[in-house]
Amino acid sequence: MQTNFSLAQLADPHVAESEKILRKCVHCGFCTATCPTYVTLGNELDSPRGRIYLIKDMLENGRPADKEIVTHIDRCLSCLACMTTCPSGVNYMHLVDHARAHIQETYKRPLLDRLTRAMLAFVLPYPSRFRAALKLAGLGRPFIGLFDKLPALKPVAAMLKLAPSSLPPASPKASPGTHPGQGAKRGRVAILTGCAQSVLDPAINDTTISLLTRLGVEVVVPEGEGCCGALVHHMGREEAALASARQNVDAWTRAIGQGGLDAIVITASGCGTTIKDYGFMLRLDPAYAEKAALVSALAKDVTEYLAALDLPEPVRKPGTIVAYHSACSMQHGQNITRQPKELLAKAGFVVREPREGHLCCGSAGTYNILQPEISAKLRDRKVRNIEATGAEIVATGNIGCITQIASAAKLPVVHTIKLLDWAYGGPKPDGVSDATLAAAE
Ligand code: SF4
Ligand code: SF4
Repeated sequence: MQTNFSLAQLADPHVAESEKILRKCVHCGFCTATCPTYVTLGNELDSPRGRIYLIKDMLENGRPADKEIVTHIDRCLSCLACMTTCPSGVNYMHLVDHARAHIQETYKRPLLDRLTRAMLAFVLPYPSRFRAALKLAGLGRPFIGLFDKLPALKPVAAMLKLAPSSLPPASPKASPGTHPGQGAKRGRVAILTGCAQSVLDPAINDTTISLLTRLGVEVVVPEGEGCCGALVHHMGREEAALASARQNVDAWTRAIGQGGLDAIVITASGCGTTIKDYGFMLRLDPAYAEKAALVSALAKDVTEYLAALDLPEPVRKPGTIVAYHSACSMQHGQNITRQPKELLAKAGFVVREPREGHLCCGSAGTYNILQPEISAKLRDRKVRNIEATGAEIVATGNIGCITQIASAAKLPVVHTIKLLDWAYGGPKPDGVSDATLAAAE
């Protein structure tokens, strides 16, 4: 694509980066066919190519964002299916991240939208605030129907619908410290305990620590790590995202200095995509660029790490039929497609893949709160495809997808690690009935 940026514009490294990306796009439109919002809404401006044109026009003319571009960029899930499809290697992720930061700087949203976003950025990345907010959600639940009728309050209704009616207690294992591996030492990793996941389902990290230590891997929960920054990054709040990135880079750099790390293990693929991008996000900060690049190189999804270990034979041979839902951040964001399915199959599960596996389930960070109608359409489509597999359980590697799919599916939806842990001698995953797993016992 031809571009017309001035030399003065290109002196801004963010604009220079976006210009390089724009020039790679050859307008072929292959990406439109796999874009969930184009497939759902049928509008070119809600396709990757349409959004690329809108972003180019905004950046090239150096103008503030307007209502039209905000509407179409807000509808983008950042699912990155377009990047998997694109034959020209267009880095849509970095382009849309830049556009979102530009929108945040130059566009004044309506008051309620601003308040909703400010509240999400204030609450979600902090486990204690998120836990308190979920407890308060019970008070708002009787008003869901009323909120749903008022367009400006639909995000509040969406939040209340997603909030679980009860919460598991916080995990003591997630506190800073070291969990030694059993038997011969096979590695040393840090684990990201994260934010929303540690509140909604602390058993995911507990199970990961338990399985890894049984396999001989020492697991460190470093002092000072926090939210990866993805939630605020996708809302264009760049400074907040970079502050989270720096805090985690500091925590993991200290852990590297105190005994080395073979990997930073991540159990939520949404976080993994962002942490693997820290090197890029902090490339212009001389104090952090090198350390952030090392952190990104060490970041591994838990299935990526396990696939590289020589796992023993499973304790059980389950034979349970599992529908594997590949989160967008897993398959498109990190290009991890093979490992989770191979690990499940090796552990004795019968793995089935739903049709249209490339399409997002509509969770996408805060998307299911901020764009509840498109999100619900994508969720229902995903659930139909999952249920058509005839599976008994759904496995996936991202807490956002678990919450989203479980809100409409009749099947239990669990993190992949819980099924692997069970096959390798751990306890039965919560929420999975004895009848579902009976055949395997
Ligand atoms: S990130 Fe997803 S929703 Fe956004 S343009 Fe690409 S394919 Fe479409
Ligand atoms: S597939 Fe790639 S090159 Fe083709 S229009 Fe989409 S982004 Fe541009």
